[in-house]
Amino acid sequence: SKPIVAIVGRPNVGKSTLFNQIGKKRVSIVDDMPGVTRDRIYLDAEWLNHEFTMIDTGGIEFDESNHILKSMRSQAEIAMEEADVILFLVDGRAGLTTSDEEVAKILRNTKKPVILGVNKIDSPQLEMNIYEFYNLGLGDPIPLSATNVMNLGDLLDAIVAAF
Ligand code: GDP
Ligand code: MG
Repeated sequence: SKPIVAIVGRPNVGKSTLFNQIGKKRVSIVDDMPGVTRDRIYLDAEWLNHEFTMIDTGGIEFDESNHILKSMRSQAEIAMEEADVILFLVDGRAGLTTSDEEVAKILRNTKKPVILGVNKIDSPQLEMNIYEFYNLGLGDPIPLSATNVMNLGDLLDAIVAAF
C-alpha cells in the first residue's frame, strides 16, 4: 500500500494549513483506535507520480489530557509507529521553543526518516530564521510558507526522496 507521511508539530505552526495544501482528497479509513477520528486526519496526496497518505497528528484528540507536551509526545510516538516518513513542522516566526526540542529528542531516536520543515517563511527576507533549527539535530531545515504556497515543491521532493 501507499507510504504514510505523518506531520508532527506544536499547535499553531501550520500543520492543518500545510496538510490542506498538499492533500488532494479525503480518505475514509475506518478504524477503532480510541480517541482518533481517522477520516479527519488522513488525506491522500500525490507528488511527481508518488502517491502517499498523510496523517495530521495534530488532529488526533488524545483523551488523557490537554497538556501540550504530553500530546506532542503522543503525536511523535504515533508518527514513529505508523509513518514511513515523519514531517516535523516548526514555526520560523516564533523561533525554536523548548517543546520543539523535546519533540526532536524523541524523533532523534527513530530510524525512520525525519524531514524538518520551517513554516511561515513567507518571504526570502525571513530565510535566515531557519538556521537556529539546525540545533535540533535533524538535518537541514527546509524553509516553507504554507499560506503563500512557497517551497512546497522542495519539501515534497525531500519527502518522496525518503520513501
Ligand atoms: P496547526 O495548529 O499546526 O494545525 O496550525 P494551523 O494550520 O491551524 O495554523 C495556525 C495559524 O498559523 C493560522 O492562523 C494560519 O493561518 C497560520 N499559518 C499557517 N501557515 C502559515 C504560513 O506559512 N505563514 C503565516 N504567516 N501564517 C501561517
Ligand atoms: Mg491543526
